[in-house]
Amino acid sequence: MENKLFLYNTLSRKKEEFQPINPNHVGLYVCGPTVYGDPHLGHTRPAITFDILFRYLKHSGFKVRYVRNITDVGHLESDGDVGEDKIAKKARLEELEPMEVVQYYTDRYHSYMDELNVLKPSIEPRASGHIIEQLQIVEDILEKGLAYESNGSVYFDVEKYNKDHNYGALSGRNIDDLLSTTRELDGQTEKRNSFDFALWKKAAPEHIMRWPSRFSDGFPGWHLECSAMSAKYLGTEFDIHGGGMDLLFPHHECEIAQSTVCNGHTPARYWMHNNMITIDGQKMGKSLGNFITLEQMFSGEHEKLEQAYSPMTVRFFIMQAHYRSTLDFSNEALQASQKGMERLLEAYGNMDKLTASDASSFNVQEISDKCYNALNDDLNTPILIAHLFDAVKNINSMLAGSATLIDADLETLKQLMNNMVVDILGLTVDTNGNSSGNDELLSETINLLLNLRIDAKANKDWTTADKIRNELQALGVTIKDTKEGFEWSVK
Ligand code: ZN
Repeated sequence: MENKLFLYNTLSRKKEEFQPINPNHVGLYVCGPTVYGDPHLGHTRPAITFDILFRYLKHSGFKVRYVRNITDVGHLESDGDVGEDKIAKKARLEELEPMEVVQYYTDRYHSYMDELNVLKPSIEPRASGHIIEQLQIVEDILEKGLAYESNGSVYFDVEKYNKDHNYGALSGRNIDDLLSTTRELDGQTEKRNSFDFALWKKAAPEHIMRWPSRFSDGFPGWHLECSAMSAKYLGTEFDIHGGGMDLLFPHHECEIAQSTVCNGHTPARYWMHNNMITIDGQKMGKSLGNFITLEQMFSGEHEKLEQAYSPMTVRFFIMQAHYRSTLDFSNEALQASQKGMERLLEAYGNMDKLTASDASSFNVQEISDKCYNALNDDLNTPILIAHLFDAVKNINSMLAGSATLIDADLETLKQLMNNMVVDILGLTVDTNGNSSGNDELLSETINLLLNLRIDAKANKDWTTADKIRNELQALGVTIKDTKEGFEWSVK
């Protein structure tokens, strides 16, 4: 089987065969969260998308150095280099040290990533720990004449850069047009034009997070941290740079401009961007105030949620869409994901019961090829999952005695399911094949309560009988009385 991985490169706007700079090692940099609020559903998509890439590259035999940063300074409320630092604002409102805010939300982020079975990156550097490296880049860009000092701040000269380079290479924006239309509207006197972005900002007196520099006591511009930390840990040219599509402009465009001035080329060969999660057709995000936190997702406590969804259901829901498509939040879609995942994991758990036969009635190698082809086609997880459901159908047929496999094919099937379900899709499976080890216990507890209700009814204790029924219904258990006793289901 040909095993060539093709990835969509945002920079070239086409799918390209992935060829790492070093044949055995891959350098992967992904922009991580700004830690000033509780992790929400919007955070799960880049985390899971690049987790699958990380897992698949490792599965394919590469040594991967995966760097995912924590933004703990310099991310202002507006992309126009104005407004308060997001973390400093949270600290001011809650009367905390900014680093307390950072620590608290970083810990929260980590624990939710663990629940979602997102593997830890190889290195997780923080912007505030790399101020010296960032200042070195400021000096380098100034020396090359592509930045200017203004009132203690340093700005990147976009117009000058754009004379010899294409500021807009990644995002496709035409800066010439934008420059001519925005110049007169620009009220920010510090900048030569509104498109220039801050490399270093002089801190206002009330600004808490500040470091000394020869320009001023201040702090680095947000885009600088990723240039500094990717170069430090992966070199000035590495393989893949990833992040959410909302970071394409200005963040990644600015990173490219900074690195191009310093090193003469873009920092990464392949640029990958996951699309957004939408809610009621709008991007879900903290800044828009229409987000659902992971705590709410897992507990069901949010007006948009009809029930709680397990971390694995959320993970499966994310993977059921291609990462470059938008994904709209809905209870129906999540409930369908939950059912689908349970069906997949049940079949996975039942594989131990399968026995070999003296003939194979279906082609396992073909299913395996289709699964790998889907992954190699720009990580097409929805197609991969569709092929896994073909495998599920065959496993169920084998259990019912209507399909067979010889020993070698059965081993191939087991290996394939293990590779895809556990190693690459990263679904956690307990020994019963359930996504939650408590399923069986829960089921027996409900049976116990409903049997008590039958006893209560037999004793004409209607109060107890109704109480059991009503309280179970309030928990989302649908109960049907039958001739034999009862049937129940959970929404
Ligand atoms: Zn970044």
